[in-house]
Amino acid sequence: MRLLVTNMLISGVQPLTLLDYPDKVAAIIFTPGCNMRCRFCHNKEFVLPEEIQKMRPSFISEKTILNFLNSRRGKLDGLVISGGEPTIQPDLKQFITKVRDMNFLVKLDTNGNLPDVLKDLVHEKLVDYVAMDVKTTLDRYKDLVGNMAHPENIKESIDFLKKGSVAYEFRTTMIDGEHTEDVVREMATLLREADTLYLQTFRPEVTLDPLFESKKPLSQETLHSYRTIFKEFGIKNIAIRQ
Ligand code: SF4
Repeated sequence: MRLLVTNMLISGVQPLTLLDYPDKVAAIIFTPGCNMRCRFCHNKEFVLPEEIQKMRPSFISEKTILNFLNSRRGKLDGLVISGGEPTIQPDLKQFITKVRDMNFLVKLDTNGNLPDVLKDLVHEKLVDYVAMDVKTTLDRYKDLVGNMAHPENIKESIDFLKKGSVAYEFRTTMIDGEHTEDVVREMATLLREADTLYLQTFRPEVTLDPLFESKKPLSQETLHSYRTIFKEFGIKNIAIRQ
């Protein structure tokens, strides 16, 4: 008999979070590599191949994570799989299957660029909750996140999640000068009648595109006015995340 050996690439772990998985106590793992290049991204060590290479010696083995989870049975409800972009990992499905076999819930963070992977995980009931970033309008995607993004794939992932086969949230990092009222109205059309949307405040720290380091977060007043616009489009739960 041949044993199936898998090796998820895991570049970091946060042993405990009370914030990232709604109403659950969870750990988070981070996977290296991404199929976008968001100009405002703060995580170049998870995105750029040369930075990932530097971190390689500190990668954590799948076995270490599974042993850790085993030691946290009864204390953690679930595992958040974040990135980078987890869906580009060839062994993601096999890894999640092992986590599910240990009776942990799984939340997946994704940019939605690979809808087939997302759908497969949901159809196989391997994920319990999905958080998908919606960066901007479909027309503006490539300008904001680079040519590796496929706007038609983003739409496919959004439409799939809106059908409600799995609990989900959309989330958008709101950036001054990028997310104008017109952009927000177009995004609201795209997300019409979604369950949950988080509007996240942009932090002007180190970013992939240095031009974004001088961008400002939107004011609370503007965020609240955008919340009202999204509400007009039937999005049920909208919260502002600092
Ligand atoms: S999707 Fe964008 S923000 Fe998220 S890790 Fe990739 S480049 Fe960074």
